Amino acid sequence: MSIYDQIGVRTIINAKGPSTRLSGGFLDPDVAAAMAEAATYCVEMAELQAGASKVLAEYTGAEAGIVTSGAAAGLLMGTAACIAGLDPIKMSKLPDTRGMKNEVIMVRSQRNFYDHAVRGAGAQLIEVGLPDRYAGAGVRDCEAWEIEAAITPQTAAVFYVANGNSQPSLPEVVKAAHAHNVPVIVDAAGQLPPVSNLKRFIAEGADLVAFSGGKAIGGPQSSGILAGKRDLIMSAILQHLDLDIYWEQWAPPKEFIDKSRLPGAPHHGIGRPCKVGKEIVVGLLVALKKFAAESDDQRGERLGRHIKALHAALSGLDHARVQVNAGRIPSLEVHVAKDAPRSALDIMIELEKGNPSVHANPSRAKQGIIGFSPWCMKDGDAEKIAARLKPLLRY
Ligand SMILES: *Cc1c(COP(=O)(O)O)cnc(C)c1O
Repeated sequence: MSIYDQIGVRTIINAKGPSTRLSGGFLDPDVAAAMAEAATYCVEMAELQAGASKVLAEYTGAEAGIVTSGAAAGLLMGTAACIAGLDPIKMSKLPDTRGMKNEVIMVRSQRNFYDHAVRGAGAQLIEVGLPDRYAGAGVRDCEAWEIEAAITPQTAAVFYVANGNSQPSLPEVVKAAHAHNVPVIVDAAGQLPPVSNLKRFIAEGADLVAFSGGKAIGGPQSSGILAGKRDLIMSAILQHLDLDIYWEQWAPPKEFIDKSRLPGAPHHGIGRPCKVGKEIVVGLLVALKKFAAESDDQRGERLGRHIKALHAALSGLDHARVQVNAGRIPSLEVHVAKDAPRSALDIMIELEKGNPSVHANPSRAKQGIIGFSPWCMKDGDAEKIAARLKPLLRY
């Protein structure tokens, strides 16, 4: 009996990959063991985050970093840092940004539902650029000069969502922003692997970068990283930590939080609801170490075994074509034929309903394609998936 059976909850086969809706991925036993051990002690959270900062700095190339309760939490606190700086009065007013720099510039084609985290800090998004290429009407997207033209004395930051197609390139955006002393925040939540991307965005000039801990890194579901400039990280942690303490009593590590630069201790800030437990911090750090120690090729090979097994198990599938996509992390697609007994979406709904419940990637279901990702698959899952899928494609 699993711990989930005891509360009447099904476990699922997750062939969609780590997503919040499906409880992230699962933990490597070393990560789970580290979290269990961490949970049996108490520590001072400022000291723990200062220790984490050194590790995160090493892996990202940034000056400092903190473990957050997810990439989105990192975006909220990173934006709050750009707005409030080291001013405790401003910190205590957020998300009310009256009288502060509160504009965050963002390329229109990069808008997505995670930018709610940026708006949640009290920022007003200033959209720039015309995504011609998405409409098929033209070839261009936003250009760096358009970002630069949108910068005003009210600009707190430029927010950049990294992915393979982001336009303009990050170095161009950084150049435009830094010419006016405006920091750049990068959402790189899903940009791992390659492992080299841990350092890439800071190397390209980002002032802050947010990663998910619960995606490829393999950390706890509710973990993330915010790394960047020392002052911005100091602001972010000040708006996150529980500061129910007398000034005289408060003794955070100086290189992380320099009290001499503050008129007094801030009150609980806008990041306080994004609480991070000690076991989350430790779990993320152990997971990060393991993630960085495995090469991209090794990872591709390890995860690719599940795709090979699924491919083999799906032989003889009716009314569909199976396609394996090589690439950094191999994946598999089932292209459902027009004459199949059910549509791709109906098949996915059936797979999810049954037992074992199987979740695949629905992003192209409307085009007749069921996607399978190996990230969260376990040995034996391939055969179980095939056994559920095959009858659904038969009359
Ligand atoms: C997943 C994702 C997030 C959110 O990450 P969490 O760690 O779940 O908070 C933010 N932005 C992008 C682009 C993402 O893919």
